[in-house]
Amino acid sequence: MWYNNAMKNNCIFCAIAAGEIPSFKIYEDDLVLAYLDINPFSTGHTLVIPKIHSEGLLDTGDETLAAVISRVKKVAAHLRTALPCEGFNILQNNGQAAGQTVKHLHFHIVPRCGMAPLAFDGAPADMEELKALAGRIGMI
Ligand code: 5GP
Ligand code: ZN
Repeated sequence: MWYNNAMKNNCIFCAIAAGEIPSFKIYEDDLVLAYLDINPFSTGHTLVIPKIHSEGLLDTGDETLAAVISRVKKVAAHLRTALPCEGFNILQNNGQAAGQTVKHLHFHIVPRCGMAPLAFDGAPADMEELKALAGRIGMI
């Protein structure tokens, strides 16, 4: 695919965008993909990425960024109604010092419910449970 060079970038999110690595998708179009995080901070924790590779906020073109943030809004609105979700945090890490572990631009959508405190790390999810959750949330 024109937008993808997973091997060249040696990038796990490029590989997900190319379908080389499976993911539980919530939203997809030509430019953007959203899927459940496998180490969720909360139920429904979703990552939104551009299909074209960039490392972070500062090396991403404005057009791509605009496309991604508009999909962040769309996906967050969907999660808000599809889940028990009273609010959500948007998180976007840049650089190792900021906790970025995958060097492909991504926005975290972290649904929040009740008084559960915000956690900045997650344990590996059970893949069957994540699959079932993706089914309950549904593709937009
Ligand atoms: P960062 O710390 O770079 O902002 O966040 C990277 C996120 O990507 C982490 O929350 C981590 O759990 C998630 N992640 C890493 N590898 C994979 C993967 O192969 N699939 C999915 N769905 N999420 C991943
Ligand atoms: Zn990439």
